[in-house]
Amino acid sequence: MTTATTATTATTTETGPLLSVRDLTMTFPGKRSATGRRGAPVRAVDGVTFDLAAGQTLGLVGESGCGKSTTGRMLVRLLQPTSGSVTFEGKDISRLSQGALRPLRKNIQMVFQDPHSSLNPRQTVARVISDPLLVQGWSAADARRRAAELMELVGLIPEHIDRYPHEFSGGQAQRIGIARSLATSPRLVIADEPVSALDVSVQAQIVNLLERLRTELGLAYVFIAHDLSVVKRVSDRVAVMYLGRIVEIGDKRSLYENPQHPYTRALLSAVPLPDPAAERRRERIVLLGDPPSPAAPPPGCTFHPRCPKAQPICRTDRPLLRPTEGREVACHFPGD
Ligand code: SF4
Repeated sequence: MTTATTATTATTTETGPLLSVRDLTMTFPGKRSATGRRGAPVRAVDGVTFDLAAGQTLGLVGESGCGKSTTGRMLVRLLQPTSGSVTFEGKDISRLSQGALRPLRKNIQMVFQDPHSSLNPRQTVARVISDPLLVQGWSAADARRRAAELMELVGLIPEHIDRYPHEFSGGQAQRIGIARSLATSPRLVIADEPVSALDVSVQAQIVNLLERLRTELGLAYVFIAHDLSVVKRVSDRVAVMYLGRIVEIGDKRSLYENPQHPYTRALLSAVPLPDPAAERRRERIVLLGDPPSPAAPPPGCTFHPRCPKAQPICRTDRPLLRPTEGREVACHFPGD
């Protein structure tokens, strides 16, 4: 049974959070085997709960397959949640019909990981960026004018508006994707690994751009990534996911300086330190094996087969998120 977590201590405005996610769950049907038998259902996201205030960034981190991208896709309704709610500006959007969702779509947009594969290669940049506006009923001339403005905003040359995506580098293509996401003046952008497909030198430029846009436009981000260094730069709060669940969520500074969940500690111990001497002194926590399959999660704490601190209770009792050291942690034995 899915149990609602309690990760609701985000800094919120007086009028409430911009985004409120409650007990969000996504279960995919099991794959069919060669004999035609269907495997066990896969619970990719299992009871995710958090709030996000206007103008803030929540970093969503974890290993590949932990459910962070599936969560992001449910927030923009590219995937229909199996259960749970997504409340945006006070309205539950998780069960709205596509028709009822259309006028709200302009307020929540998404930036994808691989810019080239997320842009239609047969459309000019003008068309790529203005497409969301045409859907909203803008005239072609007004949408084209807005597309040129957006190109300038994200650091592209507006005169290149009639070029095709393949004529741009990876970093420039991601700027096109960002411009497209901003076309309808959203309040919230879900950025799904927006820099992980880019060269390291270009990553910093895109991160700086996203930061500038957040300040200038008052955007809120859910920033999904596996790179904790990048997440540290952009986030106000951070949620760490493991096997479909949030295991630690809280203010960025306290989480990075004093991680409480053994999984968070292990992830952070692998982040390179800028000081070579500190890097040599630092003790790495090496996790055993790969994450278990979400089709057959271990009982109790799903992290127990890899946890260096596991005790007998961890094999039977699932730990819920509980307030710990100013944040929320799902562990029977948080801290050192
Ligand atoms: Fe490790 Fe037990 Fe905490 Fe799970 S509950 S993270 S197994 S100490």
